[in-house]
Amino acid sequence: MTTEPEPDPEPPVFQPYLYYRVTARDETLTCVNYEQIFTVEQCYSNNGTNVRMVCARCRHDMRLLTAELLDPQPEVS
Ligand SMILES: [Zn+2]
Repeated sequence: MTTEPEPDPEPPVFQPYLYYRVTARDETLTCVNYEQIFTVEQCYSNNGTNVRMVCARCRHDMRLLTAELLDPQPEVS
């Protein structure tokens, strides 16, 4: 057993203008979603530097945990 605290995960790196499957965790202590992890199946990376997931309850930014490039990329009409 180790008692060392888990380090904060490195934020995922996004390439611009692509779709990712993203997971994020609510870290707002007072929120009903605190410590819950959410998945967005199609998250667009925009310019690659401004990817945010906002909690629907507390409206705070959630911590991005993972980003998996969708392969193939979804068809967008
Ligand atoms: Zn929240």
